[in-house]
Amino acid sequence: MVSKSVLASYVLGRSGLGTLLRHTGGHRGFVALNYHRIGYPAECEFDRGVFSATPEAFERQLEFLKKECDVILPADIKDLPRWGRGNYAMITFDDGYRDNHDIALPLLRAANLKAVFFIATGFMDRTRLSWWDEIAWMVRTSARQFIGPTAMLPACLTLGEPDRQQAIDSLLAICRHRTPDLVDRFLDVMAEATGSGRAPASLAQEVWMNWDMVRNLHEAGMVVGGHTVHHPILSFLTRPEQAREITGCARAVEQHLKVPMRVFSYPRGKPDAFNCDTRACLADANVEYAFSYYGGMNLPAPFDRYDVRRVSVDAGAPLEHFEAMVTLPRIFA
Ligand SMILES: [Zn+2]
Repeated sequence: MVSKSVLASYVLGRSGLGTLLRHTGGHRGFVALNYHRIGYPAECEFDRGVFSATPEAFERQLEFLKKECDVILPADIKDLPRWGRGNYAMITFDDGYRDNHDIALPLLRAANLKAVFFIATGFMDRTRLSWWDEIAWMVRTSARQFIGPTAMLPACLTLGEPDRQQAIDSLLAICRHRTPDLVDRFLDVMAEATGSGRAPASLAQEVWMNWDMVRNLHEAGMVVGGHTVHHPILSFLTRPEQAREITGCARAVEQHLKVPMRVFSYPRGKPDAFNCDTRACLADANVEYAFSYYGGMNLPAPFDRYDVRRVSVDAGAPLEHFEAMVTLPRIFA
């Protein structure tokens, strides 16, 4: 379903009113855009919900940013109170998908733009898929028409088309609010219920970057930040567990890139995905900025350096909506 915000931006773009509004001198503060994957979701056997744009759409978005905005990096944030009005945007990616290196990096280079890549360092060992990709893969490769109910799955689900995507969405919703050990048990149950088994490690190599690729990002002038080791929702963990996820991530970044981890993004990123303990652990690790993921723009004041707001870039939304988010963020971000 098309959201009201997408519809309004589309009307604005078509009517020419958007162009007029965009040239009213911009705004104070900046918009941080968040991407996950660049590619073609319809061809993917993993979670299609994490695609942010096709390569063609991403290229058009970069063209727009280059023409209409100042694209900034975290190091520029300290100057925020001194900036005048304008269209300021930051490009960020989460998780560490391989297409970030293979597709996004060449396009960023061609546009001469820089971005921030937040990586879950455990994924860079490429031994396993994320739970969301593994569930989608189990369902898409299953030969079974129906599964459930089981102890961990309250209702029967239809895996065959046209209901397959709906089954995947239901299973992802079950996992979203569970602790990592429960998610892992759920994956074992689903492996058996679907008959697909657990995903082989070879698949993880197709999906994630390795450290050579992450180094290429760094050497191309991109900023590499942390996103934990195992991608848990941090607020579900005790403070020592959170500290291990944050310092373990920082240590891996430092070991492989020889630079400290100064920026971080919270897995899931909703307001309840991080807490006071998370902030204390980030301060202990000398992290300068941590990014959330529930919409909104960033004003010079009040500015919370451990809750830098980001907006989602969604595959399928028209370019007009992207343009409106960046240039009219008070309404569309
Ligand atoms: Zn993530």
